[in-house]
Amino acid sequence: MDRQQVEDAVAAIAPDRATVRMDGERVGVVLDATGLDGEARDALAAAVEVAVRDAGAAEVRVVVTAERTGRSLIAVASGKGGVGKSTVAANLAIALALAGRRVGLVDADIYGPSQPRLMGVEGTRPQAIDKRLLPVATPYGVPLLSMGQLVEPGRAIAWRGPMTAGALSQLIDADWGAADTLVVDLPPGTGDVQLTMVQKHRPAGAVIVSTPQDLALIDARRAIDLFDKAGVPIIGLIENMAGYQCPHCGELSDPFGHGGAEAAAAESGIAFLGRVPLDIGIRTASDAGHPPAWKKDETIFASIGAGVAAWLASR
Ligand code: ADP
Repeated sequence: MDRQQVEDAVAAIAPDRATVRMDGERVGVVLDATGLDGEARDALAAAVEVAVRDAGAAEVRVVVTAERTGRSLIAVASGKGGVGKSTVAANLAIALALAGRRVGLVDADIYGPSQPRLMGVEGTRPQAIDKRLLPVATPYGVPLLSMGQLVEPGRAIAWRGPMTAGALSQLIDADWGAADTLVVDLPPGTGDVQLTMVQKHRPAGAVIVSTPQDLALIDARRAIDLFDKAGVPIIGLIENMAGYQCPHCGELSDPFGHGGAEAAAAESGIAFLGRVPLDIGIRTASDAGHPPAWKKDETIFASIGAGVAAWLASR
């Protein structure tokens, strides 16, 4: 049996993924399955085994290495839309990066994929190598992939379950390089994308975003339930649009009530990660692709990021 023949046979099926070891008629192949789902991984391992036998090996052992070793996924979820989940996800990703983690951002919100705008890279399209997507670099040190980069604006909403699940996997199993943390901006509610996320991609934990309104909190409880039932820990709750400072007279008011989210978190035994005020500056900066977390001396998102970083470090 010729070593070159075995290596060529393996390389033809699994280019750049395999390392061959030979000991007489025995052949061992270490296969890197990063980015492949279970089915594709098994099919590739079986095909490699057949090819090595055909090349004359008496004994073949294929070892598949674990995927995405050490990469933590953080799901950012809300019970309903419009509570600022995407805004929080973008700023949390930046705050975590500033806190020293290597972070990627996945925008899985099929109903309103807004991360390319929030992160200042609207209109960009990711390239693919060997059908694996390459995340788009952003000015904030956090590479990004978004559902909005895969389809025309407004089209993804018509996708059926299996298509959304497939698209989510494409984003998560992309070539994230050295990233150790992926922040995943989920669509609001508890649909197919969320189920695929918890069942297939097993996030390390979930962050729930809610406004102080009661209704949003009831909705938030539903989102919390989804992760609870799947055994995904809740890292904590973030109260967004809490308190309003009048830009003219400076008076503080609470258009959506005060402290509801914190009380609800305490009631459910969930950590409270912080409160983000309703601030017109947050909206205008976000719309312009300048996430507030990037600003020098920013404290609100920095403190939320520190809380999540501490949670990750304590696992
Ligand atoms: P979701 O992802 O929950 O649908 P978005 O993050 O898209 O919500 O936010 C909805 C709108 O509210 C956006 O225009 C955003 O700029 C604005 N917004 C979010 N959080 C705040 C805040 N704390 N203060 C002011 N505007 C905010």
